[in-house]
Amino acid sequence: MQRIGSTDIKYLKGVGDVRARKLKTELGIATFRDLMYYFPNRYIDRSRFYNIAEFTGDMPAVQVRGKFVSFNEAGEGARLRLVGSFYDGRSFAEVIWFRSIKNIKRSLVKGKEYVIFGKPTLFNGVWSFAHPEIESYNPENPPQGQRGVYPLTEKSRNGGITSRTLQTLAANLFEKVTQIGDTLPQEIVSRLRLMPLLQALRAMHFPTSPSELERARKRLKFEELFYVELHILRYSLHRDITTRGHVCARVGRFFNEFYSRVLPFELTGAQKRVIREIRNDMRTGRQMNRLLQGDVGSGKTMVAFMSMLIAADNGLQSVLMAPTEILARQHYETLRAWGDRIGLPVRLLTGSIRTSERREIHAGLLDGTIGILIGTHAVIEDTVQFLNLGLVIIDEQHRFGVAQRARLWTKNAVPPHILVMTATPIPRTLAMIVYGDLESSVIDELPPGRKPIATSLHYEEGREQVYRDIYTELRKGRQVYIVYPLINENDRLELRSVEEGYKNICEIFSEFRVCCVHGRLRPDEKEHQMQLFVSGEARIMVATTVIEVGVNVPNASVMVIENAERFGLSQLHQLRGRVGRGADKSYCILMSKQNIGKETRERLSIMTQTNDGFRIAEADMKLRGPGDMEGTLQSGFAFNLKVASLASDGDAIQLARSVATQVLDSNPTLSGAAGAGAGAADGSAQLTPYSLKLLETELTHRFGRQVDWSRIS
Ligand code: ADP
Ligand code: MG
Repeated sequence: MQRIGSTDIKYLKGVGDVRARKLKTELGIATFRDLMYYFPNRYIDRSRFYNIAEFTGDMPAVQVRGKFVSFNEAGEGARLRLVGSFYDGRSFAEVIWFRSIKNIKRSLVKGKEYVIFGKPTLFNGVWSFAHPEIESYNPENPPQGQRGVYPLTEKSRNGGITSRTLQTLAANLFEKVTQIGDTLPQEIVSRLRLMPLLQALRAMHFPTSPSELERARKRLKFEELFYVELHILRYSLHRDITTRGHVCARVGRFFNEFYSRVLPFELTGAQKRVIREIRNDMRTGRQMNRLLQGDVGSGKTMVAFMSMLIAADNGLQSVLMAPTEILARQHYETLRAWGDRIGLPVRLLTGSIRTSERREIHAGLLDGTIGILIGTHAVIEDTVQFLNLGLVIIDEQHRFGVAQRARLWTKNAVPPHILVMTATPIPRTLAMIVYGDLESSVIDELPPGRKPIATSLHYEEGREQVYRDIYTELRKGRQVYIVYPLINENDRLELRSVEEGYKNICEIFSEFRVCCVHGRLRPDEKEHQMQLFVSGEARIMVATTVIEVGVNVPNASVMVIENAERFGLSQLHQLRGRVGRGADKSYCILMSKQNIGKETRERLSIMTQTNDGFRIAEADMKLRGPGDMEGTLQSGFAFNLKVASLASDGDAIQLARSVATQVLDSNPTLSGAAGAGAGAADGSAQLTPYSLKLLETELTHRFGRQVDWSRIS
């Protein structure tokens, strides 16, 4: 059997030292295995030749058979180009080259029969191909099946490696390698009726039919996702086995007193259920690692607070970490008011807290007088130490991967329970990967009395009408947000747009007080401006996205978002969630410039169609890909997906996860020594020692040696 993983590509027929070097530096192909896994990114149907006469505007790449009747140079200097006139027996097309003109003229022969591949475009009434792939037509060996088109770099192309080259090399490779060890256990391959590895790899390069290609993809996606899930689940299992958490068995004074005397409203059914889930985690002695998802305004803060009360009842301290100072302050105001009523001290620690106060807080945390600490990232600095930290809650934080979470553990001899809260719902399948090591809770119910928000999209010409509508609401006594994009707080241009907007609005609505909040303000000034709005003195708030999270003013009924085309869907959804909390009817007005792309228009129109955060998150992911999530993923588990896509392979992810779960259920250590759950009832996940060894080898190959996560600092 060929050891393809360690065989240097230079030993392949058609590759010498020079080409081997190019393949390696330009395309990362160093071994036989690399080439086998270097897949085409699209395919051309080779069984069909097109006539130039039947071309249409939206054609993909096609192949045409014919002869060159002439070559002419046109233009000069940098615009010099070679134009070949290509005749298919009935009509003419132009073939144009802008580079390598000399080589091309030398290699092509007039009157000889060629096949050209490429995407035709219509220019001045003539169909033309720019830099198509060209090969001689061989009547004895006419093309058939699907032809792969490989992803290339500009440099590799100039260096003489074309799609055609890779095709030839791949053909040579599969001629030579006729047997390889499968990377999945035989038991799994046959149970799921997957295509065997070698066959799948060959089909990716040389599919004989679309359905064969589909089956090959399915097999490779499964394999990729299966190992990712196995890796994640094994990590979380390992953590569960080796780590004991605080046992929070008691529900005592703080919780009960708060519940019976202070709780300002009836909890929703979903809140109750989630608090029960958290309580069940915390009392077992397992260390909790839980993701809490709930749409904007679903009442996550209360769930967080009541979880902290459970910790406090068991003599443990809690931390709530927010992504921005504003949000931290807002949480602080809310939680301190509640804490005060039951005698539980709550403190705030952010970057802008004075040194003297900081010292006092540090001391209070160490001697245990502070029960709850709220803050920004400042709370996890090394200088912040606790007497006995029991629970860490991370709010609205996407970029907090496995590794960062693991860091929190060192804050205490017994690792604290961890609850990650997010208001941007994560599509289920994505959560299985990105937060795959966490248990998940969902608040899928809003507190009663929420009013639907009417969302509409307007362009510049509709601005006057928008202002008239705003005026009507202001006259009714309502308040209004006007938000400008500010992606980078240091960008002066963007800052100017807020400041100009502010001046403008002050003039237009001169009878109302207007406040202005952005990231460049000093903290006390920001606080003052916010306060103006919260108290109702200011009726309009002009702001950048700093208000995205946190602000809660029930009387506000209009959210205007300027340059909405520049925001992502989940951000728009977050902003919209600031209204609809009190008034009879609320409005979200998206202002956009007129000429926006199709995708942007689609994105904005989704906002006008639904208020459902999960639907929006799904749509966002389909449109833009998993974005930020991938960052979290890589910071945590460090891998890239090559065949599967987080955005569109939900079913495959689900299947991979369930098979990985079954495998670990019967073989928790993958060592062959049967664990607690040994002997799955149907025996379906029983693997031979050989297969278990294979899993171990593949995991190491893919993710490196297992890190001892519990020791990360
Ligand atoms: P989010 O999930 O977005 O963090 P919050 O926790 O800020 O939501 O809650 C939004 C608002 O709803 C707050 O004013 C909060 O006091 C209120 N709220 C939370 N739970 C309930 C409930 N069960 N009944 C009524 N109002 C609630
Ligand atoms: Mg919140």
